[in-house]
Amino acid sequence: MTDALISSAYTQALEVIAQVEPRIAEATRQELADQRSSLKLIASENYASPAVLMTMGTWFSDKYAEGTVGHRFYAGCQNVDTVESLAAEHARELFGAPYAYVQPHSGIDANLVAFWSILANRVETPTLARLGAKNVNELSEADWESLRHEFGNQRLLGMSLDAGGHLTHGFRPNISGKMFHQQQYGTDPATGLLDYDAVAAKAREFKPLVLVAGYSAYPRRVNFATMREIADEVGAVLMVDMAHFAGLVAGKVFTGDEDPVPHAHITTTTTHKSLRGPRGGMVLAQEEFAADVDRGCPMVLGGPLSHVMAAKAVAFAEARQPSFRTYAQAVVDNARSLADGFLQRGATLVTGGTDNHIVLLDVSSYGLTGRQAESALLDAGVVTNRNSVPADPNGAWYTSGIRLGTPALTTRGFGHDEFDRVAELIVDVLTQTQPGTTKAGGPSKASYVLGDGVADKTKDASVEMLEKHPLYPGLELT
Ligand code: PLP
Repeated sequence: MTDALISSAYTQALEVIAQVEPRIAEATRQELADQRSSLKLIASENYASPAVLMTMGTWFSDKYAEGTVGHRFYAGCQNVDTVESLAAEHARELFGAPYAYVQPHSGIDANLVAFWSILANRVETPTLARLGAKNVNELSEADWESLRHEFGNQRLLGMSLDAGGHLTHGFRPNISGKMFHQQQYGTDPATGLLDYDAVAAKAREFKPLVLVAGYSAYPRRVNFATMREIADEVGAVLMVDMAHFAGLVAGKVFTGDEDPVPHAHITTTTTHKSLRGPRGGMVLAQEEFAADVDRGCPMVLGGPLSHVMAAKAVAFAEARQPSFRTYAQAVVDNARSLADGFLQRGATLVTGGTDNHIVLLDVSSYGLTGRQAESALLDAGVVTNRNSVPADPNGAWYTSGIRLGTPALTTRGFGHDEFDRVAELIVDVLTQTQPGTTKAGGPSKASYVLGDGVADKTKDASVEMLEKHPLYPGLELT
């Protein structure tokens, strides 16, 4: 697509929007300006292409299409069928997966589909069996009374939140921690690395139905062949949530034992993050789970978002291009440059480095909480998010870490030198930030005092780099 086409398409679209609600048109323009002028280091964010973005803004948004291709609960779904088939076909080819379900609206939805599919595939309705009934009609009033306080009876073993797992991997307050009796595995306290022997020992003892692998904030690769061996030994289903690193799998940086798709029974993902598609989710499955996964809608999902499925198809087509492999490799190389930049400047990194797209900086050595560091960096135009570190003394709200990721700035064309400079700027900001005090005069975990002129100096240095790597180059709104 040429620059002039994109510029005029967006300018005209914003004019149409402005005629109805000018404040939304204005906020949309401002969001572009803000994204263009800040260092986006949020590990789960990226910049989708204009083709992906434009695909979401069509009349496919208006179509209801509950069901699956060729089996809809609504009439007139022939074009949605085309879209969904194409998105699934691209996904199967891209990931070498036997089956792809592209309807989940988000990563959390994809995980819910996976959980219910596993339960449907592997479990007799457990309470019925225990109560000696074949179906609910055989339950007595006394049986119902005994069921009133029960939710589920299956076990799930997932990575703990503070070791880098996700809320949906069995975190107790999340629905996954309520649907299942859960236990969590962590990382080795000395190295911060996954200890497969410890995971295996826990699995042998706990015997989960579901073993979940995958992470949101673990800066290292995972051996999924080993995770599958552990699952097989204890008769568990291996579910891998590759939401964060799907782009590195698609881009063939993670292959062999590091590619979850051939090893997991079910692999879930988001389609945004490192995969650089529209906001959404997807489930990839081995054939034995395909029919259960297909019931995602209406089992746990509402009607599919056809316009987003169309954008998934476009994004997957992009990811099948050779240039996406170059991009994925650059994401990982850049994360290493960022990590090295920190280490050379004396910073502390969880696990001592990275070999994926994430760098987890422990900010306690600067006397700061993650919350203070996140806010001070934002003042200086550096967008990050605070994150727990293993056994975090500051808990999940204030935290002691900052999670950084390279997918977005790599999309803009940042390379080794720029990421080294980013590390320098971040260290400069953090060394010149002091923790603040509470109203009562005690130490605060939230307030902070940024050194004079640091924010402006950092912003100027960032803008110099950002202008060399414009976001959506050639896109000019008039
Ligand atoms: N799974 C993992 C590993 C994630 O990191 C995330 C999001 O941060 C999700 C699932 C949820 O994705 P979504 O926000 O699209 O529901």
